[in-house]
Amino acid sequence: MKITKVTSHVLQYDMPELLGYSQQYYDKRTAHLVEVETDEGITGWGECFGPGNVAIANKAIVERVIQPLVLGENPLNRDVLWHKVYNLLRDHGQKGMPMQSLSGVDIALWDIAGKVAGLPLHMMIGGKHRDDIPVYGYGMMLRPEPVYELAKRFEDEAASIKGMGFAATKMKIGLGPKDDVKLAEAVRRGVGDEFPFMADANHCYTTSDAFFVGHALEELDAYWFEEPIAPEDLDGYRELRAGLKVNISGGEAEFNRWGWRNLLEARALSIAQPEVCALGGISEYLRVLALCHAHFTPVINHVWGSAIAVATNMHLLAAMPPMPGGLFPWEPMLEFDTTDNKFRDELLTEPLDIQGQVKKNNGRVTIPGGAGNGVEPDRDFIKRYTIN
Ligand SMILES: [Mg+2]
Repeated sequence: MKITKVTSHVLQYDMPELLGYSQQYYDKRTAHLVEVETDEGITGWGECFGPGNVAIANKAIVERVIQPLVLGENPLNRDVLWHKVYNLLRDHGQKGMPMQSLSGVDIALWDIAGKVAGLPLHMMIGGKHRDDIPVYGYGMMLRPEPVYELAKRFEDEAASIKGMGFAATKMKIGLGPKDDVKLAEAVRRGVGDEFPFMADANHCYTTSDAFFVGHALEELDAYWFEEPIAPEDLDGYRELRAGLKVNISGGEAEFNRWGWRNLLEARALSIAQPEVCALGGISEYLRVLALCHAHFTPVINHVWGSAIAVATNMHLLAAMPPMPGGLFPWEPMLEFDTTDNKFRDELLTEPLDIQGQVKKNNGRVTIPGGAGNGVEPDRDFIKRYTIN
């Protein structure tokens, strides 16, 4: 079996409304799918993390840098190919876009391996530790409007996400410490006293501002405080973890086993959030997961992107061993974006219907059962939204 072609499909559409997080507002949704074809008619699908122009640049890395290194190779040699590509790109990018690009190719190779074996991805890894997983719905994105309006909107949106049946919810913050506390108070009002909510700062604070907001989140009984400060600031993370009772989460901007080793050895995180479509694909995710567990750090995957990314993460979450285990073990959750995303809802010939399942099954979804990722993208849909 030989790899005959590697194609990046960059999809994009105009969002119905302007949304934002602490770093920017955006009005376009992008997805970057990777298709790996073989001489035996089996095709694998993967996805690279990276919005907008990053996806367009990553397409060039996938097709013009990685493709020549893997053409003619046996796709089942996925770990050999991972190291061939990584070792040759080491001088040019141990983090960031080269790793995002390699991730999409690696995920597609795992899809091929599953299809060859006739086994779903979670069985290729070692089996399911759980048949279904709880889902948290994130929303409450920033909008360019006054804080009192945004707070009212967040209160209503939080109540609505809870009403949809999700197991927990997550909000964005990033207006500045005092206004962010007002937003978090609004979300707590919206969901009531018991329901878990989390706050994601996308690394916009100084350490002292993060302490101010973190103390308020403790008072509001938030479950976690995500990416409070810059991912490079490992000392800051360690200080926040030692000084705050709220869980400190992060890791979506970290890459491969060497980057994660530093993060974990710094004792920077209460909850690790690896992004499989960025850190190096499934091959590297499994090594990072083992490192997290070696440091007794629980993992809740970061999930972003199309239905390919969502399905991949469902398999990974099903195959994640309990850590430390027990009669009522700590459980991971699936992250789900409740804002407009056609690439998740309409890409597949048979949609995952996460929201429908959540509503019917008490906030939980079952794991796809087909071979590989277990999902099939609709080629007409891909053609309609391709911009490259
Ligand atoms: Mg985040």
